[in-house]
Amino acid sequence: MTATRIDGKSFAAGLRERIASHVASLKADHGLVPGLAVVIVGEDPASQVYVRNKAKQTEEVGMASFKHELPADTSEADLLALIDKLNNDPAVHGILVQMPVPDQINPKAVINAIEPAKDVDCFTPVNVGKLTIGDPAPVSCTPLGCLMLLRDSLGDLTGKHAVIIGRSNLVGKPMAQLLLRDNCTVTIAHSRTADLPGVCRQADIVVAAVGRAEMVKGDWIKPGATVIDVGINRIDAPERGEGKTRLVGDVAFEEASEKAAAITPVPGGVGPMTIACLLANTVTAMCLANGIEPPRDLTA
Ligand code: NDP
Repeated sequence: MTATRIDGKSFAAGLRERIASHVASLKADHGLVPGLAVVIVGEDPASQVYVRNKAKQTEEVGMASFKHELPADTSEADLLALIDKLNNDPAVHGILVQMPVPDQINPKAVINAIEPAKDVDCFTPVNVGKLTIGDPAPVSCTPLGCLMLLRDSLGDLTGKHAVIIGRSNLVGKPMAQLLLRDNCTVTIAHSRTADLPGVCRQADIVVAAVGRAEMVKGDWIKPGATVIDVGINRIDAPERGEGKTRLVGDVAFEEASEKAAAITPVPGGVGPMTIACLLANTVTAMCLANGIEPPRDLTA
């Protein structure tokens, strides 16, 4: 079997087109523009790239982008004061603080300070609780992107056995909640799971969110399974020249493609979905803040 490639890049482009069209209608009909504020503290190069991409894509769909770049020695009090200002700014509908923050700042204090209605990546305890009990709330962007790709690929997920490898608050746990909501039977595996290959072999759906290059091997995959690779790992690529590197996922793509029915590549799979879902959640947040029915085709 050679798996179908799940093209997250093209799915995300389609989602951004739908977002741009809704943004134009909201502007024309209500005079409103969704606004996303992204805050970065310090000069971590990878975080700066993410923030630049977020700002660029926000503007490309016609939304307002508010970028706040703070120096690495910013105090917790100053960051909390900025968040308070953004919470009270009616032009800002989504707030994202790029993690990690420098050591002098407590990330929990930062997350707790964000107004839940503007918490478009579902970090706050209020929104995590709502997701858990099934109340409407912004849904974590990366898991939401994975769910959209799974539904597009498989349709109804009812009764599927999903094995999620990774139990982080950012990916693994919210992914489990979303798949449970879609009537999957969910197993969450982690670094202490006994016989991880055997657990994976039972899965109709594997979601790998580990951060270990090509850890999930082809013989861990049940024939016909669907594989979603969240991992982003940079490895040496001497075949491309001295000092060159390339990105790979948590799944050994070629081997797994021989067993799976469908699989996301890295890059070009889950990655592009994350920012698109952040923009979608900001549009929804703006609609809810203004008593407007949110568009139905921007979320899973
Ligand atoms: P974390 O480091 O927070 O969590 C990793 C999880 O993997 C932990 O639960 C850990 O288990 C588990 N794990 C580690 N080693 C093993 C192992 N040998 N066997 C089984 N489980 C293991 O990572 P994140 O969830 O934040 O991210 C995971 C990956 O996804 C990373 O590569 C990250 O870059 C990528 N990512 C990609 C995004 C995208 O947009 N595509 C967005 C977010 C993340 P334990 O809890 O027991 O330690």
